[in-house]
Amino acid sequence: MVTDIIIDFLRGYTLRDKYCGTVSKDDIGSTLTLSGWIFRRRDHGGLIFVDLRDISGIFQVVFSPDISPEAHEKAGDLKQEYVIKVTGRVQMRPEGTENTGIPTGEVEMYVVSFEVMNTCKALPFQLDEEDVNESLRLKYRYLDMRRPLVQKVFLERSKAYKVTRDYLTSHGFHEFETPFLTKSTPEGARDFIVPSRLNSGTFYALPQSPQLFKQILMIGGFDRYFQIVRCFRDEDLRADRQPEFTQVDIEMSFVDVDDVIGLCEGLVAAIYEGLRGEPLTTPIMRMAYSEAMERFGSDKPDLRFELPMEEITEIFQETGFGVFKKTIDDGGAIKGIVLKGKTLSRKDLDTAVETTKEMGAGGLIWIRKDNDGLQSPIVKYLSDNEKMAMIERLGLSNGDVVFIMADKRSKVNDIMGRFRLYLGEKYNLVMKDQFKFLWVVDFPLFEYSEEDKRYVARHHPFTSPQGNIQDFHGDYEAFKAKAYDLVLNGVEIGGGSIRIYRMTDQLEMFKLLSIKEEDAFEKFGFLLEALEMGAPPHGGLAFGFDRILMMLLGLDSIRDVIPFPKTQRGTCLLSGAPSKIPQKQLNELRVRITGEQQ
Ligand code: ASP
Repeated sequence: MVTDIIIDFLRGYTLRDKYCGTVSKDDIGSTLTLSGWIFRRRDHGGLIFVDLRDISGIFQVVFSPDISPEAHEKAGDLKQEYVIKVTGRVQMRPEGTENTGIPTGEVEMYVVSFEVMNTCKALPFQLDEEDVNESLRLKYRYLDMRRPLVQKVFLERSKAYKVTRDYLTSHGFHEFETPFLTKSTPEGARDFIVPSRLNSGTFYALPQSPQLFKQILMIGGFDRYFQIVRCFRDEDLRADRQPEFTQVDIEMSFVDVDDVIGLCEGLVAAIYEGLRGEPLTTPIMRMAYSEAMERFGSDKPDLRFELPMEEITEIFQETGFGVFKKTIDDGGAIKGIVLKGKTLSRKDLDTAVETTKEMGAGGLIWIRKDNDGLQSPIVKYLSDNEKMAMIERLGLSNGDVVFIMADKRSKVNDIMGRFRLYLGEKYNLVMKDQFKFLWVVDFPLFEYSEEDKRYVARHHPFTSPQGNIQDFHGDYEAFKAKAYDLVLNGVEIGGGSIRIYRMTDQLEMFKLLSIKEEDAFEKFGFLLEALEMGAPPHGGLAFGFDRILMMLLGLDSIRDVIPFPKTQRGTCLLSGAPSKIPQKQLNELRVRITGEQQ
């Protein structure tokens, strides 16, 4: 229970004197009025016992015919989750009947009078039942929230807001709100749009993030901005995604990468300590994007276990083994992952091969080291030198298995990266109780979009390159950004960048992204104009607040930390949104529904 955060400030209030969970031996002899819900009711030897519950915890009240025959009789009708107000004297529980499981377990109250303030229909699920169906929990979220564990999550969430505000305001940040009815800002996802009645035929977009507004605030001279803000992205939903989610959004003036990272690290450490009750060791490790991709096949590596990919391409430069030779001739890569200290059966090895095939691999080679050297269907094709070099390069000991893939570099990285996660889970290598934070830095500025058939901004188009954008010589893949992501246990929990702050540079960036100048002005004219009026160097970051909470509280779904989340289909089971709207409203908006309505 959460008595630590409930302050006893109720004396003199009309409907109660104290929270249930705060009644203690100090109250013995005093007459108190308490209000709350009936959690459990038991009839025993002529007495009726009720566990009265409020946000602070549980307190036992007793109805006895000797103290108040009238109250005792009325109490016979009480049911679960009725809301009652009771008055009576607090006393010690008789010896042997104390309950050491709850903080109020030494005391109880004999009721002199009480009032039923509200009744409760039969419950769709029992509050102390585990494994309640999630749809039912979301439909009756208010009942779900009365469960102590769920309640605790949202009180922790409230604490995290406070820690965030305290940290940032004490570091010179000012809190702002930015518009929800706005123009679309490209963050790469689909916008939610809102039709404008007053300007018919035009639409607002709900913000995917306050990116441009926070930059404008820096140009407005506010120096340090933050906002705990809802963002909206119309994406297909997964367990860790919601159409509306909360970001801790940060922007600072006159900073470079290390300044933003340092400041944000302090915030993460404060939230970590607030929620987990222990300090976080900083500085957080940093890794270049290229290393993350080459060794872990991911821009958000899970470092709760090792198992890096090792490049062994150079060992096979002169190889006679056809698969490796072809890979090298085609400019590809050969990489291995060494699994140590596990006894793998032939079946395990076959399953591993199958798994990578399901992931899209052309093939996976395994080699086992034992007393007689390397064992594998392919070793006969390898020279002694190659075998020796592999043993040395990969540090192979007896019993070790190395899995090798040879293909296009990006494909090897991608599939081996996913295969690494599979091995980590399958062989219990992931240290589940650990929190491994990592900054991934030195991202590429651009990435190729197969869908758009052009280079797009990897972070967003306002991100500054490392070096001068005017010096760009045409190698999109090699140009690096002043961008950084914060990763926790393989999940991206924050990301940001230093921004372009000169108008000519921003225009150049749009040009490199094949955005026509007139389109750039149409969409971002206000930013371009502002950049021409003394914009300071600035940069920032946004944290996914829900994701951080989910992870630090050890929960599996982002829905568990959002009071009123949407389902995978984007619906709210409590309110029934989204819903149809009356024709009159559609007419006012001059919106017509075409095609089949679902
Ligand atoms: N607006 C960015 C995002 O939502 C974060 C940032 O660059 O500060 O990902």
